[in-house]
Amino acid sequence: MAGEPQDDCLFCKIVEGHIPATIVRETETTVAFRDINPQAPTHVLVIPKVHYPNAVTLAAAEPAIAADVLREAQSVADEDKLDSYRIVFNTGAGAGQTVFHAHAHVLGGRGLQWPPG
Ligand code: IMP
Repeated sequence: MAGEPQDDCLFCKIVEGHIPATIVRETETTVAFRDINPQAPTHVLVIPKVHYPNAVTLAAAEPAIAADVLREAQSVADEDKLDSYRIVFNTGAGAGQTVFHAHAHVLGGRGLQWPPG
């Protein structure tokens, strides 16, 4: 069922504490943890605890939780004292999405080029 934990989902396992992660923040609806393969000095993933395959399906079904994800991105940036940062939602394999549980990448702490590769 939409929103329910998926047995084969890595990020559901992190939410459930079955796979370790460097968690930096947790709320009732979200978890934020350091990316295992950081692309910037700050590279944190903010995920909803509920399972949706990407940010768009999350926003359609649970708009308040999608807003929580964005609020938490700002909190991560504040905690890491970032003046500016980038939020990325890779959506679809062709755009580089590899984990099909909605997540925001929060990237900062170095100069960021535009457009991204
Ligand atoms: P995507 O490519 O946008 O789907 O982002 C998935 C991200 O998850 C990648 O940046 C991976 O480095 C990261 N990742 C994969 N496994 C883990 C893990 O166990 N802990 C933390 N980050 C992970």
